[in-house]
Amino acid sequence: MKNLIRAFEGPLTSEVVLSPGEFGLGKVPARLRPERTTSMVCGYCSTGCSLNVHLKGGAAVNLTPDTEYPVNQGMACPKGWESLAPLGAEDRATRPILDGAEVDWHTAMEAFCERFKGIQQAHGNGAVAFLSTGQICTEEMAMLGSLAKFGMGMLHGDGNTRQCMATSVVAYKESFGFDAPPYTYQDFEESDVIVLIGSNLCITHPIMWQRVLANRRSPEIVVIDPRRTETAMQATRHVPLAPKSDLVLFYGLARLLIERGWIDAEFIAQHTSGFDEFARHVDAFTLAETGARTGLAEAEIEALAAAIGSGKRVSFWWTMGVNQGHEAVRTAQAIINLALMTGNIGKPGTGANSITGQCNAMGSRLFSNTTNLLGGRDFTDAGHREEVAQRLGIDVERIPASPSMSYDQILDAIDRGEIRGLWIVATNTAHSWINRGRIAELFEKLDFLVVQDMYHSTETAQLADLVLPAAAWGEKDGTFINSERRVGLVKKVARAPGEALADFSIFKLVASYWGCAQLFESWRDPEAVFGLLAELSRGRPCDMSGIESYRMLDEAGGIQWPLPRGGGAAASQRRLFEDGRFYHADGRARFVFADPQPMPEPVDDKFPFLLLTGRGSSAQWHTQTRTGKSAILRKLHPGELLVEINPADADRLGIQRGDRIAVASRRGEIEAPAFITRRVQPGQVFAAMHESLANLLTHPSFDPHSRQPNYKACAVRVERRRG
Ligand code: SF4
Repeated sequence: MKNLIRAFEGPLTSEVVLSPGEFGLGKVPARLRPERTTSMVCGYCSTGCSLNVHLKGGAAVNLTPDTEYPVNQGMACPKGWESLAPLGAEDRATRPILDGAEVDWHTAMEAFCERFKGIQQAHGNGAVAFLSTGQICTEEMAMLGSLAKFGMGMLHGDGNTRQCMATSVVAYKESFGFDAPPYTYQDFEESDVIVLIGSNLCITHPIMWQRVLANRRSPEIVVIDPRRTETAMQATRHVPLAPKSDLVLFYGLARLLIERGWIDAEFIAQHTSGFDEFARHVDAFTLAETGARTGLAEAEIEALAAAIGSGKRVSFWWTMGVNQGHEAVRTAQAIINLALMTGNIGKPGTGANSITGQCNAMGSRLFSNTTNLLGGRDFTDAGHREEVAQRLGIDVERIPASPSMSYDQILDAIDRGEIRGLWIVATNTAHSWINRGRIAELFEKLDFLVVQDMYHSTETAQLADLVLPAAAWGEKDGTFINSERRVGLVKKVARAPGEALADFSIFKLVASYWGCAQLFESWRDPEAVFGLLAELSRGRPCDMSGIESYRMLDEAGGIQWPLPRGGGAAASQRRLFEDGRFYHADGRARFVFADPQPMPEPVDDKFPFLLLTGRGSSAQWHTQTRTGKSAILRKLHPGELLVEINPADADRLGIQRGDRIAVASRRGEIEAPAFITRRVQPGQVFAAMHESLANLLTHPSFDPHSRQPNYKACAVRVERRRG
């Protein structure tokens, strides 16, 4: 058994490739000076900062932000600074756990294969599915998606990227012809007008906010958000629209821009299609109508249109406030339409720019093999299937001819008894899924639940029949792709505890026990897989075939796609569409639009408040499985859920600062201290997503095109808790 595990355990980065140099540490006393330093990309958010990890005795002891990397330029947020803390936590999973008892890997793998194969034999291959993550390396995602679908015959798998980026994927594909965020971070510094929509950039992407502050053009900074967020407080203009009225606002703005002649007619004529139909569509969104439906003063809307219309370099940036809505895709496309009609794309300081969430959501979008076939291809396209089969050297019949069910559809199929085996990798469904109160009961219906995670203590791991102990960021090699399409390296700078293995190694082990290892003979190690992915991307918009090795990535400071083979050295900052050509066959971008739809759960007499959710602080990451392990990060946030409520509502309900309040929706009730603040408007309350309470309330509705959950708005009742 020891030999088996050792066979899957790679060397530390310190034993193979290291960047020498003192990294400005010459004045540090010799006994504290690191023996070696290497740089790698942070494992939390999609900004993709590079960190210099200092090693002593062969293992990471400390880190500092990388001053040379084009992304973060020597900066890191609190999570980045504390990246090493979660590795040493006491609740690390160190051995497989089967039915509550520790077992060896051989027993775990035999149970894994016997139970999942048994389910497939009894109920069909589609009765076992997987749920993955935007937190593991691209090579690992590709291995999981390929192993599950091509090797194990699964039909369905999705990832937690459904919760953050599915909307942007669909919006870009329909509008541009491919899922392609067009920008480079330099655009933050080169805009005259920066429009942030549903993005609390200050705390969700603090280093991107630093790039905004580095802008020397004295930009107008517009924040469109119902809540007066930290970013709204810093903006030159805060537009506090009614929740989920953004689609109406953008159509109203489009109408005004057309009416005032603030459009780029030449760009529209040469590079887009569908503008005339779009112009007819938005004609109904008069200033009066837009004002009434958004709750904004007409003068405020006119001023915003003037700022966009008169700006020479206008950039539009959106994130979860848009993506997590009931009509999210059309809203994202309404933003794209504003950029297209004003010609604000493909030039410095412009763009319709979706800011990604997780460190490797972009890798997942291209290579997880779930909704899209590898390389952003289409499962339903026979030519695409043939191309992938040929490049991987596998039988084309192994590739399903339809995409996976989405995350919510997989859960519903569990409810109906159609899916009976589930393999969850590095995500915490029982905390993070919308209306999570349903999850424990749902998972009870499964015949076999496997959770692969670095901790045995997550809410989801606690429900598992089998826990597979995984190595963390910093304990394995691979690549992430950040928001601006930059491929960056992560490295093994620490050994995983006990018998925990890199996710990649676990997938290889599964392939061996399942009996399909021969399909993955050339998937030797992460770098070999990166070579395969580069080959799979060849000729696609995301072409990375010019990235020849990890060393090349290391030396270049990350490389943005596309970089075709023979493309030479890549410039450090590159944006898409500089030639005005998009990815549709005719080279034109599309204006896509639809009628705004009512909110799925509006307020009423019984539930008169609207609950908004979002990030609490820059020290917290999602369900806090990692950030909760750092004593320093725990000091940087309140440590419990505080529900924000406007003073007018608090007065009316007799609520005083610190009083405990009950917040109830049709799905559940929670209790928490009230935080009385004008940050939220009357009639609205806000709860951060990091404590597991908020998702007991959220409403399980979804954008119909992206199936992304509508986390941001549901109806609740608020009462002061007495006694
Ligand atoms: Fe890491 Fe994101 Fe913080 Fe940068 S901004 S240090 S990538 S968590």
